Amino acid sequence: MSSSSMSSASVSNPSQSTPLCFCEVEATLKYSNTRRNPGRAFLGCRKYNTEGLPYCKFFKWANSQDIEQDLFKLKKELLRKEADLVKMLKEIEKREIELQKKADEIEKKEILLASINEEIMKKEWMLLQQEAEIKRSRTLFRLFLALVVIFIFYIIVSK
Ligand SMILES: [Zn+2]
Repeated sequence: MSSSSMSSASVSNPSQSTPLCFCEVEATLKYSNTRRNPGRAFLGCRKYNTEGLPYCKFFKWANSQDIEQDLFKLKKELLRKEADLVKMLKEIEKREIELQKKADEIEKKEILLASINEEIMKKEWMLLQQEAEIKRSRTLFRLFLALVVIFIFYIIVSK
């Protein structure tokens, strides 16, 4: 990420400061929408048109310095927001890296599980073979017993 855009773009503070309204608060720049003065900038009470707050009737047409001052404030605010965004981006990047690490760990565990699974399958197959072996030897043993019984029977009968 490039941080060149952050190079503290020197915003020189205009010498004049914003006038205060009758509430002793810095007046805010607004634009007229009357038919006589459409779009003309003026300074008014910051609390005007805000719900529930008392406001004063301060009014002054803005001169170029007032507008410059307002632009300066906006620029400062924009720079602050940009810095916040850069911080947020860094945070997101950090989280992405953490997530990637976790994904890698999960993948490793998956591979381990797969190999364990394979091991279990091998052992199961071996067990099945052993079982078959046992079954075979049981059948042979029964056959042997049957032959012994027949042999003894034959001896007894032939006497
Ligand atoms: Zn006021």
